[in-house]
Amino acid sequence: MENKETTPSVTPAAPRPPSAAPMHRESSGPRRPGGGGRRFAPRRKVCRLCAEHVDLVDYKQAQIVRNFCTDTGKILSRRITGACAKHQRQIMRAVKINRNLSLMSYNG
Ligand SMILES: [Zn+2]
Repeated sequence: MENKETTPSVTPAAPRPPSAAPMHRESSGPRRPGGGGRRFAPRRKVCRLCAEHVDLVDYKQAQIVRNFCTDTGKILSRRITGACAKHQRQIMRAVKINRNLSLMSYNG
């Protein structure tokens, strides 16, 4: 009696279709250097009036006061001007006095 070779009934594993390739995203998309961060280096603001050793902001010096105002007559905030608290108070007072004396306008 001869031993007949049995054909395997299980089919070999089919090759993967190309669409099932793993998603690798290595070279696509813009790369941020440094992993992203702030665009501008923070700069320490120094109060301009302290730098010039101005003890008291005089309302009569309208040019100085006007440097801390917008064109429309608004008082700029400390975040923008970098003025210290002492000088910011004096600027606010000077601006309000000047408006009253019509040395400065309320609305530009
Ligand atoms: Zn100051």
